[in-house]
Amino acid sequence: YVTFDSVQKSYDGETLVVKDLNLTVGRGEFLTMLGPSGSGKTTSLMMLAGFETATHGEIRLDGRPINQVPPHKRGIGMVFQNYALFPHMTVGENLAFPLEVRGMGRDERETRIRRALDMVQMGAFLSRRPAQLSGGQQQRIALARALVFDPKLVLMDEPLGALDKQLREHMQFEIKHLHESLGITVVYVTHDQGEALTMSDRVAVFNDGRIQQLAPPADLYERPGNSFVAQFIGENN
Ligand code: ATP
Repeated sequence: YVTFDSVQKSYDGETLVVKDLNLTVGRGEFLTMLGPSGSGKTTSLMMLAGFETATHGEIRLDGRPINQVPPHKRGIGMVFQNYALFPHMTVGENLAFPLEVRGMGRDERETRIRRALDMVQMGAFLSRRPAQLSGGQQQRIALARALVFDPKLVLMDEPLGALDKQLREHMQFEIKHLHESLGITVVYVTHDQGEALTMSDRVAVFNDGRIQQLAPPADLYERPGNSFVAQFIGENN
């Protein structure tokens, strides 16, 4: 469904931070990019989202090259740790925003906003402002905003990074549930091994701009492809 074909990225015209990325994500799959800080995960996700351009290679969505397609025309939902809610807008206005951008009428907007808030059990919070919500509630609203226009593909970059451990585990479960019940494709970025291993269908382990191994979680444990993977998967577990 998503294909990276020989994709490279350099910010300075010299060093490649993503080196020859080849990856296909299946329709409905939950694929996680896992790796240490600076390994090129976010850059890869930003190229898929359309906020960065590939220096070399092609990215395809459903068989269609998207290198020239602007972000809001890619039909991709996004949840980023730093992609905060608009503080001056209510929850309802935050969710209306991506629908207004798409030119959707008022009635349709209201139906979709209600449905998206129900999905994350936040129906009662329509008129609140972000500052009046807890961190976990804000993250749920960010999730609802990513889902409100029915995207087939959702990208998440460390969406739970700011939450405490207990809430993080709860939200992992909720995200997994939404993935399964909506049948969406998810590309997820984290540096947390436990999170990657519990949530994903497959994990792409990144280091130094390259995928070191791409495999289902159990295989990474049982058959690490090289010493980097063995060591990285072993840490904190
Ligand atoms: P993290 O988990 O810390 O976000 P990451 O694996 O997502 O790390 P990237 O954010 O993709 O890694 O960064 C890869 C490399 O590219 C790093 O060396 C980083 O300093 C560099 N880089 C990232 N964004 C930019 C930018 N906008 N301009 C220049 N260099 C950048």
